[in-house]
This record gives sequence, structure tokens and C-alpha cells, in this order.
Amino acid sequence: MKLALRKIVVIILCAGLAATSAPAQRETRDSPAARKSSNTPKLVVVLVVDQMRGDYIERYGHQWTKGLRRLVKQGAWFRQAAYPYMNTITCAGHSTISTGSFPATHGIILNAWWERETGKQVNCTEDLKAQTISYGSPAKGGHSPMRLQVPTLADEMRAQSGGKTRVVTMAIKPRAAIMLAGHRSDSTTWYEASSGAWATTTAFTAAPVPFMERFMKSHPVERDAGKTWTPLLPESAYQFEDAGPGERPPTGWGDSFPHPLGGSHEKPEAEYYRLWGESPFADEFLGEMAEAAVNALGLGKGPGTDYLGMSFDALDSVGHAFGPHSREVQDMLVRLDATLGRLFAFLDRTVGAKNYVVALSADHGVAPIPERMMREGFDAGRIGTVEVVNRIEKALEPIWGAGKNVARMNYPDLYFLPGVYAKLLADPAAMRAVKDAISGVPGVSRMYGSEELLDARGSEDPMKRAAALSFYPGRSGDMVIVPKPYWFFVTNAASLSAGSATTHGTLYGYDQRVPVILMGPGIKSGEYLSAATPADIAPTLALLCGITLAKADGRALSEALQLPQTAKSADSAPAPKKP
Ligand SMILES: [Zn+2]
Repeated sequence: MKLALRKIVVIILCAGLAATSAPAQRETRDSPAARKSSNTPKLVVVLVVDQMRGDYIERYGHQWTKGLRRLVKQGAWFRQAAYPYMNTITCAGHSTISTGSFPATHGIILNAWWERETGKQVNCTEDLKAQTISYGSPAKGGHSPMRLQVPTLADEMRAQSGGKTRVVTMAIKPRAAIMLAGHRSDSTTWYEASSGAWATTTAFTAAPVPFMERFMKSHPVERDAGKTWTPLLPESAYQFEDAGPGERPPTGWGDSFPHPLGGSHEKPEAEYYRLWGESPFADEFLGEMAEAAVNALGLGKGPGTDYLGMSFDALDSVGHAFGPHSREVQDMLVRLDATLGRLFAFLDRTVGAKNYVVALSADHGVAPIPERMMREGFDAGRIGTVEVVNRIEKALEPIWGAGKNVARMNYPDLYFLPGVYAKLLADPAAMRAVKDAISGVPGVSRMYGSEELLDARGSEDPMKRAAALSFYPGRSGDMVIVPKPYWFFVTNAASLSAGSATTHGTLYGYDQRVPVILMGPGIKSGEYLSAATPADIAPTLALLCGITLAKADGRALSEALQLPQTAKSADSAPAPKKP
């Protein structure tokens, strides 16, 4: 029964998508003839630019001439694309792009959250059963996708092709590389800044991936030692002052160009490895790594549709330090434009321009630096979660007596110690005191109790809906606190660390709005103003590849799809019988 049903599904998909030279002949996707004549892409490339705001295209795009320009000009650009949920954070964003679902479904609510069962803060990819495999100096820790609750597009491509899809992902951050892949991967690689080496995990492979090992030997990170990041454009081309208000460069750099990496070819110091991972040199390295993967594995030339996922994470570090209105961000994008231009030219040569589809998006945007907004007369600032917790404890003291009630506050999620939230729900006076204390913190807009968010995904109130789409029962906080526009959470507003002038993670436009661009065969180029989210990428690519996602929250962006063979093959192929 299962097999028969599968066969029908395969036939329907073929009728819809396969371009056949002998249309009347029934073929399954598995037959060589069907493979040859298939209209499906040979390679799917998913590109994530960490912290790329949607309006960077409008603000800085006129200076791009290569890869980013090609995407904007030749691709389908969804100009209003935005995340509809609140926790606009890296791990959540990558999981949304890779699965086509929102955190309320895929379970990755933030980069880290308070785990009630263990009474510990856990990272989204942390896994004690997995071990990091280093391609250089030994690295500690273990990462896996075990907390991701649904399969990814890549997982489905592999399963539905009978294992013919090869999955390769790479990023600076482990959470980006792992979540872009899913539950299995042929090669998933990230950068361990602490050890200065690239790495993978035993969750995907028992040993270092041989081609990657070779690549690392011929491309040591140390090759950039002594280099300096200088602006690529003439000074007059930059829109903002070099040392803008509130900038907080990472240790080792000043607030204006040039930014030296330091190090020496013999033995660079730890600071070199850290700064390298936060510089445009890391993004360029990633472009070369992708070429090596395509060459070594013959991606785009195999029996199935292959999957390449990349996350350019250096922009996130630069944006946190210098803000979205900075020469550094503008320069990063000009350099990424060149890196992507080289990558596309390489894919044109090796895979063929008609054989690969590209999707580009971002995991989140970023808020302007509060000091810049204050200078412009806006109400803006930082909310210390330490202060929120202190105020709550102080407010409960006269009612319940002295003692600890809050376990943790992490971004907007507030966790009480076991039993405390139930006690609050049963004690209106204490609950009132807690809510008043939270409301009294400058910069706080609203708050929701977890019980209000459980079934609120369909809420007509966009803020409540956004909070509900980030709410995963058991993982999310007992209460969720929403800051005002241009305010965001930090641990301690009085002691900010280097490299952290601003951040993201709210439900406001500057955090939610990101690029969504598709390019390649089957994509109608143009600018689209219809509503779209990054969760629409996986369903759209799934449709192009002739596979089905089990549980997507997003939709296929059908207005941008042109499947030229569809009508032709449907006309001439026998209609599938209704089951
Ligand atoms: Zn970030």
C-alpha cells in the first residue's frame, strides 16, 4: 500500500515537472531516461547572509556589480519579505530557511535557551553525545541537529531521491552550518575561532571528510596573517561617517578603517584567528571552500539533485560591532558581491547556468545602534535582563518573602524556577506585582504569559502572533517580554562587551525584513511585492525539485515560478487516475 501510494505520487510529480522527450511514455524519476530529460535543477544552492537587512539592497545595492547584482537583476526579488515571528536570531532563522517552517514548528526558538529538565542554559546545537572533529588544532565540544524537530529540505531531497542527493553545507558558525544541512550531511563544516581551525561533527561523519582535509592543507587560515581589511571603494562612495556614534569594535580594532588582522605567518596569536572569522577574509575563504566541494564531489553532476548550503556569517559580527549604518557593513557587502560573483561564474562553468537554482536570504536583520537613534531624537536604548530579573525579585519580596524566583532571562524569554509560575498564576497579587515590575523597566512595551501564546498563531494582533510563532511549549519562557521599537535586550546594559554595539531578536521591521531572492531555471526574474517569508524558500525549492515537504509553514512562491514543461507534459501524458 505504502509503495503503491508512493508510485502514484511519483507519477503525478513527473507529469507535473519532468520535461520528457517522449512524453507519452510513462517514466519514473529513477529511470535514466527520466533523469536525462528532467527539468529539475541538478544543484540547489541556499545562501544565507547573516544579519543582512532587506533594505541593504535599496541602500547599498547600487554599488554592486557582480554576484549580488546578478541576483537582484536576474532573480526573483521579494521586496517585502520578512520573518513574521519575534525571535529573529541566527539559529532560528537558519532552521526556518532550511525547513520552511517557523520556530513554533521546528523548535529552534533562539541560539540558546533555558532547559528546564536539566536546569541549564543549552546551545541550539549542543550535544554531549557528539564530538567536534577538527581539520586543524584540536577543538572541544560537540554539536548536532538533535534539537531540530522537523526534517529540512535537504533531508527530504535525500530521502525522496533514494539517497541520490549529496548534502554539503559550510558556514563560519556551527549552528548555521548544521541547521542548513539537517539531520544528515555528506560534509558540514564550520570555523572554530577559539582553536583557529575548521571543523565538523561526529553527528554526520566518523572521520574528517577527505576532500575537506585536503582543502584545509592547501588553504591554511594562516595564509591571511598580516593582512589588513581596508575599504574597497573610494572614500566618497561610503554613505556614513567612519566612526559613527556608539560603535563598539571588537578587541584589536578601532572604530575606523584600516582593520589589521595581526598575526605572522609562523604562528599567529589567538586574536588573529578571532578577527579573521569576523572579517571579509572568512567569507572569501568560504567561497573557495564551496568550489572545492563542487569539484571534489562533482556536485550538480550526480544522479540526483545535490544541495549546497552556505552561510556568510562574518557580516553578523561586523554589524554587531559597527551597526547597519557603517562603512564596514557597506564594505562587507561590496566584498560579498565579488565573492558571490566568482562563485556563480564557477558554477556556470562547472554545473551550467541552466542547471542550478540559487536562493539567497538572511537569518535576521539588525537594529540601528541606540546612540545613533538617540542622536536623531528617537526613544532608543538597551534593556539589561539582569535589571528585569532584579526588579521582579524585589517586587515579590514583600509578598512572598526574600528568595530566588527567576531561573533565567534569555533575550525575551523569562524562566521562573520550577513551580513558581504556577504559583504566580494562582496568586493574582503576586502576578500583578511581577507585571508592574516588568512594565516599569524603561524600554519594555508588552509582555505575554506562556498560556496566552499556546494557541495564538492565528491571532489578529500581529505582535501576539509574532510572539506565538516563536513560542515552542517546554522550551520557551514562562513569560515573553517585548521591547519598544529601537530597544533590545542585553545581559547588562551598564557593561557592554567589545563588538556588541547593537543586536537583533525583536519583532520590528529592521530585524524581520530580510532579502528573499531566487534565481535560476524555473524562476521568473522580476521584483515581487507579494507577501513572502524566508519559510517560503524551502517549499519553493521543493516544488522545483519535484519533492514534497511534510509540514511546511511557508508557501511555494508560485508567482515567481515558470515551469515551462508543465503544460506540455500534462497535455500529452496520460492523466493520472484518481486513487
Ligand atoms: Zn547576530
